This record gives sequence, structure tokens and C-alpha cells, in this order.
Amino acid sequence: MKQEIKACDSILELIGQTPLVRLKQLTAGYSGEFFAKLEAFNPGHSSKDRIAHYIIEQAEASGLLKPGSTIIETTSGNTGFSLAMVSIVKGYDCILAVSSKSSKDKIDMLRSMGAKVYVCPAHVSADDPRSYYQVAKRLHQETEGSIYINQYFNKFNIEAHYRTTGPEIWEQTAGQITHLVACSGTGGTISGTARFLKEQNPNIRILGVDAYGSVLKKFHETRELDRDEIYPYRIEGLGKNLIPDATDFDTIDRFIKVTDEESAHMARKLGRTEGIFSGYTSGAAMQAVHQLQEEGEFDENSKVVVIFPDHGSRYMSKIYSDHWMEEQGFYDSKHVGETQQVEV
Ligand code: PMP
Repeated sequence: MKQEIKACDSILELIGQTPLVRLKQLTAGYSGEFFAKLEAFNPGHSSKDRIAHYIIEQAEASGLLKPGSTIIETTSGNTGFSLAMVSIVKGYDCILAVSSKSSKDKIDMLRSMGAKVYVCPAHVSADDPRSYYQVAKRLHQETEGSIYINQYFNKFNIEAHYRTTGPEIWEQTAGQITHLVACSGTGGTISGTARFLKEQNPNIRILGVDAYGSVLKKFHETRELDRDEIYPYRIEGLGKNLIPDATDFDTIDRFIKVTDEESAHMARKLGRTEGIFSGYTSGAAMQAVHQLQEEGEFDENSKVVVIFPDHGSRYMSKIYSDHWMEEQGFYDSKHVGETQQVEV
């Protein structure tokens, strides 16, 4: 009898079911047990594969998308890459309006997946016609048969994580999770995952990570958007200068802010201690864990899951470049591995 060929039907079948890995060295001496959910194991190397796939399949199911339709989005890179990947496999065109803060690597990657990319200035307000929101809106109006994903205001963003990330973590921890630490950008990851987990056990603590220069933490505390909180920062994908609909603030117990510098060093330290080569926001999430440990958030019974949203390879010209670190004033030789030049 012929043996069956063991192959996925397409790359899209590999989305989700990402591994959970116990952290040891970096959290040595901390109270409790710590686990990283490695979203870089998605085929597009980030958590955004989940929402790209889910939102597009919802649009197909409701008849919004037809063969040859165009998918439009604003993105810091990861969502764009995932949308481009899903679009290629499913036969759609993909147009992406990105912030000039995105790394060159990310922009080149989007183009390599067949997407058309518009690079827009990062430090203009959301209602400025040059902002990536306004550029995407205009392209949507001008392109017949297009859909605008609008991840910050799309309820399917939360739902994707409610249906996948939440159940996976619950199952992987055998229901023993006590704390979730997750970065908040659109808020889809933390809100959807939290909603599922709190339905299983309302005592699970949901801890959101925000950037200095973002309004999320203050809004969570006051329910008012304080424009004085807004100023430029370097971490991509974390924090916001507006209040996204895709964030369910009621599911989050508290936010904690982290600096660009400490997050960059923490991401580098993850590689050197755990062998996990991760993105800038994974460093931010671990920096938040460090601060929470110092504050006494955890005890010996804590089982803490930390979401690592993407892979380090996306940041070669940023946090993994000594030159970039030096330019930011972040460089510290005791924090990096060594290079020995061998004479030729
Ligand atoms: N980290 C990175 C690298 C991201 O691109 C994003 C998404 N903007 C996040 C974290 C935050 O995820 P979410 O949008 O689901 O809040």
C-alpha cells in the first residue's frame, strides 16, 4: 500500500499552535515560573499571522472579498507581512501604508512578498493627510473592490486571539496560568487572549506593556486621552498615540511602561541567556516582567506567560546593530557578545 504524503496544503496551515518555552536563566531568582509564547514560530514570524488569516477568512465568508480583490492596511510591518503572505496564497493584491519608523528590512520584506508599499511620515497626527491612516483611507476609496483591514478598529482582531492564542495558552499551561504579560499596540493580542483566559478563570492577572510616549497606560487609569503623554519613541508595534477600538481596557488589570533603552538591552539579553533571538517588543515584555518582579507582583505560585510577538531577524539594523545602539546612546560593551578579527 502506498504511504500517504505528509505535507501541509499551504503555508497558511502552519499559523498558530506556537510553542511555549520555559525561561530559566533570565528569570533565575524571580518568584514563580515563567514561560514565553513564541509567536515567531508562525510562518510569517509574528503573532500578526493570526489576525491576517482570521480577518481575511471572515471577509471571504461575508462575501466582501472576491478573487482579485485588493487588501489595504496601515502597519508597522508585521501585520503587513502577514497580510501580504495570506494575500499571495489566496490570490489577492495587497497595498500597505507604513510608518517611516519601520525598519528598512521590514519594508524590503513586504515588497518581497509582492505588496505595494507606501512609506508615510511617522510623527504627524492621525488626521494629517500624510499619516498612514489617511493614506490608507484614501487608497481604499480610490481602489474599487478593496477592503480596508483597519486593525486598530477591527473587532475580528480581538476575536482572532480569543479563538486561538487564548485557548492555546490555557491548554499549554493546563489551566495553571496566573499572569499574562503582553505588549499592547492595537491591543488585539492582550484583549482577545485575556477575554478567553478570564472566562476560564477571572483571577488571572492581565498585565499590559506600554511605551513611554504612548497614551495607553494613562487612558487605562483615567479613561481620558492625555495628549501630554505623546512623544516620539523607538519601539515599533508597542503603545499608541490614539485609543484603539481593538483594545478592551476592561480586560486589562494594569499597564506598565518600559523604556526604549532597557527594552533593547533586555531583547539582547534574551539571546545571550535563553538562546531566544527575539524582536524589540519581546525585550519590552521581559523588561516589564523584570519591573513587575521588583514591585512584588509575583509569588512562588505564579505561573507567568509572556508573549514574544516576533523574531529578532526583523531588527538586524536596529537593536542587533552595535552601530544603531551607539547612535541612540544605548551602547554598552558589557551587554554584547564578542567579535575577534582574525588576520588574513
Ligand atoms: N509587538 C510587535 C512587534 C507588533 O508588531 C505588535 C503589533 N502592532 C505588537 C507587539 C502588539 O500587538 P497588538 O497589536 O496585538 O497589541
